Amino acid sequence: MTYNWCHGPECHTQQTQSRIRGSGDNKVLRTRRIKVYQPQTPHIYDFFCNQSCLMDFMRTHITSIIAIAPRREALETPIKIEKEKHESYRYEWSNDEHRRVPYISTRTTIRVDNDNG
Ligand SMILES: [Zn+2]
Repeated sequence: MTYNWCHGPECHTQQTQSRIRGSGDNKVLRTRRIKVYQPQTPHIYDFFCNQSCLMDFMRTHITSIIAIAPRREALETPIKIEKEKHESYRYEWSNDEHRRVPYISTRTTIRVDNDNG
């Protein structure tokens, strides 16, 4: 079995039973160790024991992380907008009762345009 230490920079300061190691007067809070089940297909939580440690890491290293793959221009996905009219209902309150009143509604659908690739 492969193990990683949690990469959360504050992991070893969290006061939980699961982090206590040592004996007698030599006890410490230690970084959590994580079992890695499939090293060939790494999962983000193979490196972080929880979301809090993941976000601590992101905050600490955000400049370096963004430098790996900076986005300097917006990306675009070509789409088609389809508008269809269809019959719908709304409810009106009158004469002490709810009434279903039909009306024509417009449904807008965004379709990813694969022909325009
Ligand atoms: Zn952790």
